Amino acid sequence: MALGSLNDLYRDKVILDHCRNPRNSAVLDLPDVSCEAINPFCGDEIRFQINLDDSDRVREVGFQGEGCAINQAAGSIVSEALNGLTLTDVLDLSKKFSRIMEASLPKDVVVADKEAINLGELSALYKVREFPVRVKCALLVWSALDSGISTLA
Ligand SMILES: [Zn+2]
Repeated sequence: MALGSLNDLYRDKVILDHCRNPRNSAVLDLPDVSCEAINPFCGDEIRFQINLDDSDRVREVGFQGEGCAINQAAGSIVSEALNGLTLTDVLDLSKKFSRIMEASLPKDVVVADKEAINLGELSALYKVREFPVRVKCALLVWSALDSGISTLA
């Protein structure tokens, strides 16, 4: 994959669209799961609320983010990707996404390249890999979800 510039990344169609029109931005009252995370490095903040249905699958998500474009886009994309998942699925997806984003050995990157293709709009965030200081911005949403869900166990 050719190295692009950070400006190219911010102009990515999916990332731009989620930044301009964040999905699921309404705050949910009395959510089943509530969590937040902060990355002081670039002033990123993220808050998530999740409501579950009778079979413990994600029914409704609220997401509010402040800070850089990557953080905002990641929160919005993830808020859509969680629909219908169990909390265990969410933790699995979190692990998988972090592994893909942090793959560094050549053989791991080959696997990550393949897996990223099948992640729907989340694959737009895979390009953030090219900018190591921004990877934390794309992963903040997952650290929020990990900590929020683990407090339930
Ligand atoms: Zn950031």
